[in-house]
Amino acid sequence: MPKEIEYSAQPMDWETRAYWEGCGRHELVLQRCLDCGSVQHRPRAVCVSCLSDDIEHFAASGRGKVHTFTVTNQNGLPAFREACPYVLAYVALEEGPQLMTNIVGCDPEAVHIGMPVEVEFCDVEGEAGEGATAVPRFRPA
Ligand SMILES: [Zn+2]
Repeated sequence: MPKEIEYSAQPMDWETRAYWEGCGRHELVLQRCLDCGSVQHRPRAVCVSCLSDDIEHFAASGRGKVHTFTVTNQNGLPAFREACPYVLAYVALEEGPQLMTNIVGCDPEAVHIGMPVEVEFCDVEGEAGEGATAVPRFRPA
């Protein structure tokens, strides 16, 4: 049985703070444009559809489907070496945006495009306000 990927705290800046703080609460936070209604991820200062800066953050459902994926069988980096094989995937969230993530909680050979998945959070070392304290990943729903 492979070990888990050793996630590390991710640096926050003013654009990503609400997202990473949401992860710390185990909420997947997305942005919605209050002018055109577009939902986006990754977090940005402006709407990528209409360039409005009138944006709100909200907690997403955490549900989606595997859009595409790859199974990594070799990675020499220490945080990943013992976790092989692991699944790197783009998940299409119910709200529209796609998120690059890992699929966990099942045999990598069982992952397939269109598979329903739901978010879970892996807590990482880090102080509140200094960096992400949890990283989102997905498991079969
Ligand atoms: Zn917009």
